[in-house]
Amino acid sequence: MASSARVDLDGNPIKPITICMIGAGGFIGSHLCEKLMSETLHKVLALDVYNDKIKHLLEPENAHPWSDRIQFHRLNIKQDSRLEGLIKMADLTINLAAICTPADYNTRPLDTIYSNFIDALPVVKYCSENNKRLIHFSTCEVYGKTIGSYLPKDSPLRQDPAYYVLKEDESPCIFGSIEKQRWSYACAKQLIERLIYAEGAENGLEFTIVRPFNWIGPRMDFIPGIDGPSEGVPRVLACFSNNLLRREPLKLVDGGQSQRTFVYIKDAIEAVMLMIENPARANGHIFNVGNPNNEVTVRQLGEMMTEVYVKVTGEPKLETPTIDVSSQEFYGVGYDDSDKRIPDMTIINKQLGWNPKTSLWDLLESTLTYQHRTYAEAVKKAISQSSAS
Ligand code: NAD
Ligand code: UDP
Repeated sequence: MASSARVDLDGNPIKPITICMIGAGGFIGSHLCEKLMSETLHKVLALDVYNDKIKHLLEPENAHPWSDRIQFHRLNIKQDSRLEGLIKMADLTINLAAICTPADYNTRPLDTIYSNFIDALPVVKYCSENNKRLIHFSTCEVYGKTIGSYLPKDSPLRQDPAYYVLKEDESPCIFGSIEKQRWSYACAKQLIERLIYAEGAENGLEFTIVRPFNWIGPRMDFIPGIDGPSEGVPRVLACFSNNLLRREPLKLVDGGQSQRTFVYIKDAIEAVMLMIENPARANGHIFNVGNPNNEVTVRQLGEMMTEVYVKVTGEPKLETPTIDVSSQEFYGVGYDDSDKRIPDMTIINKQLGWNPKTSLWDLLESTLTYQHRTYAEAVKKAISQSSAS
């Protein structure tokens, strides 16, 4: 329940503010809007080109207790003169807008670079010029590959956390060569981080940079052919969900050997709330937000999702639940991969006392229950229509 008696980490009452949220209609934005509406008295100016994922918060008009606290503005920040005015109306801007699906990084590198660097420039400029606080969403991908990945395969140093744990204030950013266009996204995100940092250092911009480590949960991306293009390739959670819903083998890119740590969206949103409501502790910091306890290879993720889906639906497992595909076949030329992503949690722990709670099994169980409930019927219908034609 929204309450005015909430206090920050230092025991001070939290004053309601107005937040200009750019990219509010996406996966993270939708969860953040939901949390802000149901548990706080903050106002949100929600900017996006789409609003399907926040429709339940906007409609029917005046039916929710928060109806006067959220306002949707359909706009593309590439070209819209309303942007500066909306940033000026708010106390805080949160920028989530980006192209952020790996299938685009090597196939649409120009759009990727424009979206993650050029289009973010006016947002940073307007915040700096108008003395507005900015929380900018970057990515764990700015770390690129681990130092350990360059060691010989049998080197014992590969087991030493110093060679793979990713620290905001120490780890280098290691990308592949230019023809590996996968890194167009990471490189653009890194440059916008450097620009924001420089605005802070030279012009006093109050900023916080968030580096999400594979946040997953309901409403992430789309199911191809249902609520997104049939040929579209979303991130791994939606790819594997799609395979499970269609009863086809999960595709493991290059054998599924890459490692990831997955954090539940609802845990991660708690971290963002702490940043919003504790500016003195969050300003000037870059924060890893992930769950170092939920590390798996992509193959293990596929196997666990298969088991969880059997539990959720009661449907038997396929005889061949996974198949290997080459990255060239799956993503095209210029793909490359992050080998391992373990977030160091020292800074976020010290500044905000945040820790993730949800295990990988539990977060997959609630997410796949949602996927099944939301999509199973539509997928069945689509399959029967295509076999009839
Ligand atoms: P998302 O694609 O679901 O959301 C992004 C939203 O931004 C979309 O609704 C899109 O319509 C909107 N948008 C894009 N360009 C726009 C423009 N020009 N004008 C207006 N709106 C625009 O992605 P997400 O997972 O919610 O990610 C949000 C942010 O977090 C991104 O910056 C992404 O790089 C970063 N991030 C997310 C993850 C993760 O685990 N989900 C990991 C690393 C980084
Ligand atoms: N991946 C896979 N099969 C799929 C989709 C993705 O094996 O159907 C792999 C991908 O190659 C990467 C990992 O899963 O190693 C995570 O991919 P995602 O798209 O979620 O984004 P990333 O973590 O690379 O940013």
